[in-house]
Amino acid sequence: MTILAPSRVVVQRESTWANAQRQFDRAAEILNLPSSLRAWLREVRRELTVRFPVKMDDGRLVMFEGYRVQHNLLRGPTKGGLRFHPDTDLDEVKALAMWMTWKCALVNIPFGGAKGGIAVDPSLLSRSELERVSRRFASEISILIGPKSDIPAPDVGTSPQIMAWIMDTISMQAGYSIPAVVTGKPVDIGGSRGRPEATGRGVSFIASEACRRVGLDPTASTAAVQGFGNVGRVTARHLADSGVRVVAVSDVTGGAHNPNGLNLDELDMYLARSAGIAGFPGAKPVSNEELLELPVDVLVPAALENVITVRNAPRIRARLIVEGANGPTTPDADDILDRRGIVVVPDILANAGGVTVSYFEWVQDLQALFWDEEEINGRLEKVMRRAFGEVVAEADNRGISLRAGAYVVAVQRVADAAAVRGVYP
Ligand code: NAD
Repeated sequence: MTILAPSRVVVQRESTWANAQRQFDRAAEILNLPSSLRAWLREVRRELTVRFPVKMDDGRLVMFEGYRVQHNLLRGPTKGGLRFHPDTDLDEVKALAMWMTWKCALVNIPFGGAKGGIAVDPSLLSRSELERVSRRFASEISILIGPKSDIPAPDVGTSPQIMAWIMDTISMQAGYSIPAVVTGKPVDIGGSRGRPEATGRGVSFIASEACRRVGLDPTASTAAVQGFGNVGRVTARHLADSGVRVVAVSDVTGGAHNPNGLNLDELDMYLARSAGIAGFPGAKPVSNEELLELPVDVLVPAALENVITVRNAPRIRARLIVEGANGPTTPDADDILDRRGIVVVPDILANAGGVTVSYFEWVQDLQALFWDEEEINGRLEKVMRRAFGEVVAEADNRGISLRAGAYVVAVQRVADAAAVRGVYP
């Protein structure tokens, strides 16, 4: 998007959707895809905007705006999370939906990509307000979602409880229980064991594999993790358990840095009685921006998109960036990091553990037969190891970055599906 500042200087504001399309364009170029197929795959199939009123606890009516976008349905029903965040808009949701298409194709699970969300800060709602917002939103997007069509899951600002309310709402409308309409539910209603930890488990597994690739010994390495929610917190814990010294973490309130390593048990205890990481006594304060530029071996952005840009990419000191978040690195920043020899493990590979176990959850719900955690984690590791190997082989064969390699594998799979399905009518 281009905006004119008062000084008449043209300021370029990053559009997340434009960045996602640029990443696709690069892969399409490498694969030499026909222009008609490029035009098809670089757009979203369906985008729904809903506006609805919700009664607040004090009796006021407040309007909310939400979205559900399906990018591509060629490989199966669409899959992707729901984000509740004040900055969520259609531009962001379209990008997140497209990334889901490539991610599902990369780990070779039979889904297309979707995403949704509401522009809301859930921390400002009471529990009953959050329930009413979630249920009304589920009802609004029920014209798109369903176990055979489009299956949401948690993302930033949403939780297993919110998935339970959505599952209940859709089930009440149908008159019978439909557990497979969402994943990331509590196990009591058909959730999968291992799902809450799956994304962070996958990120740390991929981080260890990537460390070996660049010649880093995980047990002699340091890491910084931005974002300490479902993904960042589990990643930090698993990295620490595998011997990595986690020296900095942050959340929306700020960050904590201790070059000798953070005590994550003490941090957990601190978080149980505080609003966030800011003020953690076992470390020096660090801002979210400063954390990205710390002298660490492994940097894990695990909060939001567009945090590594042309502005800070020249100052990043990590040897390896493992993208826990979706879209944390802009395409221009990617080029700078590439030139500087900093290896980036792309989001569609690094954080694919979440959707992989969501797939296992959906399969378990459909067959009404549930697996134990050992089985889940074993299957997850197999999928992640295979995807990592395929990406590395593609990147090495073509002499391209891991992001380009991952995109080539994923986009080729979707292109193959387009070729065999053909064009309706
Ligand atoms: P979450 O809501 O559990 O945690 C988000 C974290 O980011 C919190 O620590 C929050 O304080 C922090 N944060 C929010 N706004 C911020 C801001 N403006 N500045 C700094 N920090 C901020 O969300 P999550 O599920 O951990 O998702 C994090 C990232 O991982 C997102 O990019 C998401 O799309 C991606 N992801 C999540 C999953 C999953 O299974 N949950 C799977 C794949 C990818």
